Amino acid sequence: MKQQLRQYINGQWVDDAPVEKKDIINPATGEVIAEAPRASAEQTEEAIRTAKETFEAGVWADKTRQERAEVLLQIADNMQDQIDALIALEVENNGKTTADAQADAEDAINTFRYYASLLQTATDQSLEPMDDMQTLIVKEPMGVAGLIVPWNFPLLMSVWKIAPALAAGNSILLKPAEITPMTAIKVFECMDQTDLPKGVANLILGSGSVVGQTIAESDDVDVVSFTGSTGVGRGIMQAATGNLKKVSLELGGKSPNIIFADADIDTAVDYALFGIFMGAGQVCSSGSRILVQDDIYDTFVEKFVAQAKEIKVGPGDHPTSQMGAIVSEEHLNSILEYIHIGKEEGAVLAAGGARMTKDGLDKGFFLEPTVFTDVTSDMRIVREEIFGPVVVIQRFHTEADAIAIANDTDYGLAGAVFSEDQNKALRVIKKVRAGITWVNSYHLTDVQAPWGGYKQSGIGRGLGPQGLDEYQEVKQINMNLNPKPMGWF
Ligand code: NAD
Repeated sequence: MKQQLRQYINGQWVDDAPVEKKDIINPATGEVIAEAPRASAEQTEEAIRTAKETFEAGVWADKTRQERAEVLLQIADNMQDQIDALIALEVENNGKTTADAQADAEDAINTFRYYASLLQTATDQSLEPMDDMQTLIVKEPMGVAGLIVPWNFPLLMSVWKIAPALAAGNSILLKPAEITPMTAIKVFECMDQTDLPKGVANLILGSGSVVGQTIAESDDVDVVSFTGSTGVGRGIMQAATGNLKKVSLELGGKSPNIIFADADIDTAVDYALFGIFMGAGQVCSSGSRILVQDDIYDTFVEKFVAQAKEIKVGPGDHPTSQMGAIVSEEHLNSILEYIHIGKEEGAVLAAGGARMTKDGLDKGFFLEPTVFTDVTSDMRIVREEIFGPVVVIQRFHTEADAIAIANDTDYGLAGAVFSEDQNKALRVIKKVRAGITWVNSYHLTDVQAPWGGYKQSGIGRGLGPQGLDEYQEVKQINMNLNPKPMGWF
């Protein structure tokens, strides 16, 4: 019997038999592991109303920062107690490796702790009185926050939104990606066992076109925070115009990883592999375009391809697996289509390119780490986000060429530079039009630093103090310290 998943509305697990359901699949085995309800637009509107009523009642918004911080810490503690379950569910539902899921779970717990600490140290600003006027600048919650997350980091992306949205005092409605709801449900179980007032945090399951669209359009949602593809993000922005709700978008990328001839080549190869094949390349900030300087191009490609071929692909819960499954058969087919396009466009397939079906992998959705060389900048595989373990390696000659090629994209999410010349590396990374960048590193970031993209990779920033600001209004309160008639008229 399939496990029946439930939504969480107004502090209750919803037990009504759903009208529509969706099978939840383990991408490593193709097996159905659970069945999830698909909420209707009416159910979504009802959940939004619950969040609005709770916000207006002030049961959470009126709590002190210290009280809110204490609840965030309770959630973090409960998640710490449940960390093994969170990791196992993420592996089972998303297909990533246990090591990847463990890093995500730790990062998620840390995010709740970070926002608790930020609340404990935050202060309102008070300006120096001027002509008997004392001005206070205070931050207040926005109201109802609609949180829409993708399938690639189901746990982490949920928490990156839930933690700051709750910290700011909002009531929330979370919509996970339809195919990966398992760990978000677990997070709500952890929240259920805390002092968070009922109705403040709500979880709704269902499709993007119905549930997501209803959230984006609703006049009762005050801020919509979306992480997902650029195409859907564009639609959300349009849907949000009705009540001019605040929109925060974390979107796709096609990020350049620039390797100069003076880089330590083994370090550069190592991080470039991590940059693209971690999470099977289903990572918004993946270094999916590697730019290598002429002098070391052939040596780099030779080393990179040799090591890419050695990556052990397999079920995420096998101790030897270094790269897990692709999240769904549909997405696997979309990546295979891009590989086909790359070959048709004339790129050289230097490694991988095929679905893996041997050694018991036939029921799951596994793909070889794939490397294209000899690409040109007009190719679709160079311009479009493939969102899988597929990398293109481009050649450049001068520092100016590297910058021009790096920025020749509609996206601006991430980027990296490898060089032993720190001055040059800093000079170049400052010219890369992207929000998340590295020098001689890749992927490793700090929850205290703002996360987000330039250009069509998004609007606004998650994480860090800026991540809290995304869910806050700013108010000036001007207090007359010496009230008496003004005498203007
Ligand atoms: P997606 O855009 O298809 O879906 C994301 C979420 O939006 C899902 O919950 C989906 O159900 C919902 N959705 C779909 N249509 C909707 C609509 N019309 N209205 C409202 N919501 C709708 O993205 P995905 O395939 O789940 O995730 C992959 C994408 O996410 C990639 O483009 C990746 O780069 C991006 N991403 C970005 C970041 C970042 O921080 N910038 C992080 C992770 C993923």
